[in-house]
Formats: sequence, structure tokens, C-alpha cells
Amino acid sequence: MIRIDLHVHTTYSSDASIHPKTIVEQLYAHPFIKAVAITDHNVVEGYYKVRELASAYQDILIIPGVEVTTVNGDLVILGVAELPPKPWTVENVIDFAREREALTIAAHPYRAYGLGDLTKNYDVDVIEVLNGALASHVNKLAENLAKEMGLPGVAGSDAHHVDELWTVYTEVQASSDVDEILKAIKKGMVRVASIGKSIHF
Ligand SMILES: [Zn+2]
Repeated sequence: MIRIDLHVHTTYSSDASIHPKTIVEQLYAHPFIKAVAITDHNVVEGYYKVRELASAYQDILIIPGVEVTTVNGDLVILGVAELPPKPWTVENVIDFAREREALTIAAHPYRAYGLGDLTKNYDVDVIEVLNGALASHVNKLAENLAKEMGLPGVAGSDAHHVDELWTVYTEVQASSDVDEILKAIKKGMVRVASIGKSIHF
């Protein structure tokens, strides 16, 4: 089993202040979270920087990703380190991800810039049911959506600033390998948790 923060921004996102070096150092020092997905807004340079810095450390894993601002709301893709071609409709981004065997996650569906109930119209793989930046009732709506759609739920801090890192995480029944992790998430071999409590699905 591996514990992962599946939604983190770096200074390469225009609205975030977490330096890649800080992510690597904190992940290395963390007592049990040993992997992170870098999900900057519409850029992938932050992922490459974090990965480069992480290569000097053992036992931590950096998962490539991007949070795409689609015309209908935010969609996180994991397992790709490139941007989809525009126009960024939800369908185009999902097709792009599927062709690359990447994972699509409806990020914070019931927050501003979330897909909301429109999520039901699309073939996303996973719902973000626990977003570290949101109130519990907003996450509860996402949890209900995941149940209704029969999709796995994952957690990510959505950290934009250092003190927001690692507040919630996803436990995945996989070893420290990106492909294995993405396949396990898709199969629902996951549990979400926030620091101090864990939530079963
Ligand atoms: Zn985000």
C-alpha cells in the first residue's frame, strides 16, 4: 500500500506558491505519505522540475499530471506529462487521456470551476471526493456523486501554499510504481483519508 497526495500545485501554477524543492523535501521527510501527483493548472513544467529534484532522493514517487481548465470545469489527468491539444472541451481532454492510458479525475466537482452535475454526462474514471481545501459538506456532495456514478473516490490536498500540503491523502493498494498505482485507482483499490481520520468507501 502507498499513501499519495493526488492534487498538488507548484509555483508553476500562476496562483500557487509552493516551490518544487519544498515538495520534494517535505515528501521525503513525511512519516507516511511517500508519493505526490503534481497537478499544476494547464502547465507541466512544474512536474518536470519536481521529478528532476526528486531523483536525488530515495523512496519517494512523483506522479505526472495536469489540472486542465476545460470549458466546463477543472479536470485532472494523471499519468501524462504533456498538455492535450485545444480546444479543451471535456470530451477532448478525456479522449486525449484515454489514448495515453491516463486517468481522468473530476476535481472538486461541486466547487467553483468544478464540473458539478455535468460530470454525469462524461466518461471520467474517478471523482475527487475529498479535497483538502473544501468544507466537508461540499466534499460530501462529491462523495454522493461517486456513489451514484459507481466510480472510485480519491483525495488530494489541492495545496497551493506550503501549509496546505498533505492535509488529505489517498491510500492505494499498489507498490511505488505509476502504472500500477493508476490501474489500482481505476479499479477502486483506494481509500481516502485526512490527517487524523480515515474514511471508508
Ligand atoms: Zn487544483
